[in-house]
Amino acid sequence: MADTLPPFSGDTTTCPKCSHTQAVTRHKAAGEPGSRDPITFGRSPKGERLERECWRCDFVWDEALNPPVEEGEPDSAESPYFANLPDQP
Ligand SMILES: [Zn+2]
Repeated sequence: MADTLPPFSGDTTTCPKCSHTQAVTRHKAAGEPGSRDPITFGRSPKGERLERECWRCDFVWDEALNPPVEEGEPDSAESPYFANLPDQP
């Protein structure tokens, strides 16, 4: 299933309905209904996602997951700092 969700827009997102710039973020597992979806007894067809809810108008929309990008955390094996240390005896 190809997710066509927009990328995670961060903490200062803009509500597509009222242009408010703050929204709650909730993780939703695959199959988990959205907060504003009608109540059903089946699984939601939606995949894993981040649900956003506008603080002002309560509009809810989904965005793609935003896994951490591995940068700024130096890999000890490749860091110049560790590379210049003498080998331990
Ligand atoms: Zn809004």
